[in-house]
Amino acid sequence: MGTIDGLPPLREVIRAHELVAKKQLGQNFLLDLNLTAKIARAAGDLSGCDVLEVGPGPGGLTRGLLAEGARRVVAVEKDARALPALAEIAAAYPGRLEVVQGDALEIDLAAHLEAPFKIVANLPYNVGTELLIRWLTPAEWPPLWSSLTLMFQKEVAERIVAKPRTAHYGRLALLAQYRCEARIVMTLPPEAFTPAPKVHSAVVQLTALPQPRFPCDFKALQRITAMAFNQRRKMLRASLKGLAPGIEGVLEGVGIPPTARAEEIGLEGFCALARAVGYSAPASAVR
Ligand code: SAM
Repeated sequence: MGTIDGLPPLREVIRAHELVAKKQLGQNFLLDLNLTAKIARAAGDLSGCDVLEVGPGPGGLTRGLLAEGARRVVAVEKDARALPALAEIAAAYPGRLEVVQGDALEIDLAAHLEAPFKIVANLPYNVGTELLIRWLTPAEWPPLWSSLTLMFQKEVAERIVAKPRTAHYGRLALLAQYRCEARIVMTLPPEAFTPAPKVHSAVVQLTALPQPRFPCDFKALQRITAMAFNQRRKMLRASLKGLAPGIEGVLEGVGIPPTARAEEIGLEGFCALARAVGYSAPASAVR
């Protein structure tokens, strides 16, 4: 049976280039090109935009993105062993695939892409959350990207989309939902990957909103949610004690019972609290 693009099946590519998966690089490959095309489609219409992919590996998702019509894909891969396989894809799609070898945590790829671009990736599990946090906290908003379509371990995906009063709700949910629409668009069993990881995975779609859902100083919001969720079982009057003098009154003033716990408060409540408190750098950060 032919592939979506006439290039060899991924098992053959892996065999030909001896791409034995390395655990330390988070290598769990997707070999089903129909599945990678489906993930590419979850990112919406790709025809008019550039796409940044982190960790193309043997190129399954890269091929899905190109077959689904991405104008250009810029792919950053740490593992030099994957470069010959990726060069074959670049040759099949002239002028549409640029491969950059290096560590996605260290390379700034904005100059390689035309904004607003989409980011689509089956992320290496060991750097996935760190990359997401960086993409969610750029210096300027709206960011250079318009949407993120990202594969995570299912547990991480659930933390990103979690709602108040649920076990997964916490700082990551608030950070993501403050100025993005976030939802899980696909879940995948371990067998979808080679080698199979121990856990299920899920694809999260995050779409950047033009501005935050509720106005407030972002640094104040981050500081408050860090304090509140570091001691998530404590009542807010205790966990936020060091935040401002008379914290009980401040909480009451914005309609939050001082006896409430962090996991009971939604984004709107935390933003109201951030507005009431404002931001001043914590004493330890002042030189
Ligand atoms: N996209 C391929 C797929 O879906 O089959 C591979 C996904 S695999 C989960 C993660 C990929 O990220 C691997 O190819 C790995 O070498 C690469 N990688 C790991 N750490 C990286 C980093 N810091 N920067 C760039 N790529 C990285």
